[in-house]
Amino acid sequence: MFRLAEQFFKDLGLPEMTTDFWKTSLFVKPTDNRRVVCHASAWDFLDNDDFRIKMCTDLTMDDLITIHHEMGHTEYQMLYKDQPLPFRDGANPGFHEAVGDVMSLSVSTPKHLHKIGLLDNITDDKEFDINFLMKQGLGKVGFLPFGYMIDQWRWSVYRGDTPPSDYNYKWWQLRCKYQGVSPPVPRTDDDFDPGAKYHIPADVPYIRYFVSYIIQFQFHRALCKEAGHTGPLHKCDIGGSKAAGTKLRNMLELGSSKPWPEAMELMTGQRSMSAEALMEYFQPLTDWLQEQNKGHPVGWKEACPEGSLLRDGDRGANTGTRRATAAVTLMILSVLSSLSLLSA
Ligand SMILES: [Zn+2]
Repeated sequence: MFRLAEQFFKDLGLPEMTTDFWKTSLFVKPTDNRRVVCHASAWDFLDNDDFRIKMCTDLTMDDLITIHHEMGHTEYQMLYKDQPLPFRDGANPGFHEAVGDVMSLSVSTPKHLHKIGLLDNITDDKEFDINFLMKQGLGKVGFLPFGYMIDQWRWSVYRGDTPPSDYNYKWWQLRCKYQGVSPPVPRTDDDFDPGAKYHIPADVPYIRYFVSYIIQFQFHRALCKEAGHTGPLHKCDIGGSKAAGTKLRNMLELGSSKPWPEAMELMTGQRSMSAEALMEYFQPLTDWLQEQNKGHPVGWKEACPEGSLLRDGDRGANTGTRRATAAVTLMILSVLSSLSLLSA
């Protein structure tokens, strides 16, 4: 799986992984008594050829996508390694998260999966197309409100606006408001659900992923144009395009030596973050969802359902109602609708 991901980068004319990489990375969960942090990560040892990935890989499609994500970090690290030390970083943290995901946007296309022998039958009809976009939407659009709320919560904690007694309450307020999901069982102030998200106890900033999920579509669109792609954006596969690879390389080599709007402009011609490319990618799905949901209200109430969050005073009261979470198609449509605000 790692060789397959490496091949995709190589076919774009980007560097192959180093000898050290293959020798020193951790690809599978150790079977001895060592306890490792299995959350996948990519490491730059700032020492010539020493780049590593640590990941407890399973043989799944999800993990193949994660490998591309992590290897995107490694490619970035290799390409800016000749910059002075302070500039050996992403143009901004969102750029670093986006590189591998841009590759996955091509790799995940049915056409590409067919080409590399991972998908047997592909059809060129509307239903197949919408199914693919719906799958992509669940991953990419469904993530956005989550990616947005994590640091809203953390910043409100660090600002002192949310005291420890309100940690869990605030968490679910944001979950209900932005994601339209509510707890499946009643929660109390004794619970600490944020702790279940790796990046909270590990103190890894999160807004970078929100940024990445927007800009990766800008990058994808720019590289597709460079690769000579015509037709709908979601069908583009930049695989094997040296022109797209060169365009990407030129930006990655800058590291953080230029302000990010300049790096962005070099590749996309745009100087700011915009959801316009994402909207273009999902346009056929937006149209379909609008048609399917005609006459149904889109969106949800900001507040969590009554009885789902128990405060001190409610303790013991039998108010544990279970409420269905927002229908996922409506959620995707609602996020896509509110994104048009960002695409100006
Ligand atoms: Zn990452």
